[in-house]
Amino acid sequence: VSSFQAPRGTFDVLPADAARRAVLEQHAHRILGAAGYRRIETPTFESTQLFSRGVGEATDIVQKEMYTFDDGGGRSLTLRPEGTAPVCRAYLEHGMHKLPQPVKLWYLSSFFRAEAPQRGRYRQFWQVGAEAIGAGGPETDAELILLLADLLEAIGVKETRLRISSLGTAATRAEYRRELAAFLHAREDGLAPEVVARIDLNPMRAFDAGDAITQRTMRDAPTLLDRLASEDAEHFAQVRRMLDDAGLRYELDPTLVRGLDYYARTLFEFTSEDLGAQSGVAGGGRYDGLIEQLGGPATPGCGWAAGVERMLLAAGDLPTPPELVDLFVARAGRALQDGADAFALAANARRAGLSAQLELDGRSLRGQLKHADRIGARYVAIIGDEDTVSLRNMESGDQAETEPAAVIPTILRGSRLA
Ligand code: ATP
Ligand code: MG
Repeated sequence: VSSFQAPRGTFDVLPADAARRAVLEQHAHRILGAAGYRRIETPTFESTQLFSRGVGEATDIVQKEMYTFDDGGGRSLTLRPEGTAPVCRAYLEHGMHKLPQPVKLWYLSSFFRAEAPQRGRYRQFWQVGAEAIGAGGPETDAELILLLADLLEAIGVKETRLRISSLGTAATRAEYRRELAAFLHAREDGLAPEVVARIDLNPMRAFDAGDAITQRTMRDAPTLLDRLASEDAEHFAQVRRMLDDAGLRYELDPTLVRGLDYYARTLFEFTSEDLGAQSGVAGGGRYDGLIEQLGGPATPGCGWAAGVERMLLAAGDLPTPPELVDLFVARAGRALQDGADAFALAANARRAGLSAQLELDGRSLRGQLKHADRIGARYVAIIGDEDTVSLRNMESGDQAETEPAAVIPTILRGSRLA
């Protein structure tokens, strides 16, 4: 046994898990593709500044969770901790503002955060994400939220709760942050020390605090929803009306905050009671200022990301399609030493569109038949010393001597009947 283990907070995706992940990917592809979202893949690492500027210097992600390294030439690179800033970088870099707007993109990629590993929290994890860049209307927000709800439902994520809020615009938020910071400074005795320490950095995080004293103080705090400018309040009202019309249930949560600085206007998060402490399954919102922040023209955008491992944890048993084996080529007699005929039969069967496996381990004929049964083979062709092949139908148990050239047509005929 090797003394090497996967690094702390990482995991291997073994074949049984890969099958469930493939099903999740197919649902994402189907649901997002049907709404015009097209797949994008960006590099695993980016310039560190993309995240410090895009995600926000004051966020936990940038302050504590990034894997940052020198590329050897004095440039600082970072393993991507999230997908929105890279997608916006790609939008700008490839001049996608010249395409019909909005540009709708989705991804399924791995992300990296230096966090304390626990159930549902890893240092390398995967997210499905969707971004619609270039449209500011409330229909885009509502559509994205509905697509996410459809994805979670399709996968069977249970006990979900959707909370939504609006952050208004950057200007409203800055004004509100000043008001909230003043409110907090005036009540420092009623706040946990770590909340006090962060008042000037990020006062909104005070709503997140877990301790009872801070929570009691925050009950009287002004909320951003009460301070929205009328256009923003109207935008949010329209998002809500469309969700209502779609029959989607949500809770209005004016204290909703998310750990990324780029959000403006609509904000949402899905949690699942099934997940325990790491209850966040997916979240997102509108980020109208982000592209400008990255040096581009003012461009609206909205999107979300859903954690693959958390979705699968909350999905219970996600049925996966059976792995089909049409043909197992068994070897007896001379063919045990000389595998050329068996090899050719399996290869030709695959070229004809069948799934076919060949005995590769030198098992006895009995062992081979047992193995063929275990992997669910529909037919076994036994190649031995005769010029003919014994073709066994594993479902009916029928076995017949067949010309080698007739094996594949026989199985193909059988597949059409089935
Ligand atoms: P949390 O509150 O759990 O830290 P977050 O707010 O940092 O989550 P986002 O940045 O919004 O999460 O990412 C979207 C989704 O990605 C989360 O809802 C979660 O499902 C998943 N996710 C985030 N961080 C991790 C992680 N370290 N391991 C596994 N999944 C994660
Ligand atoms: Mg986090």
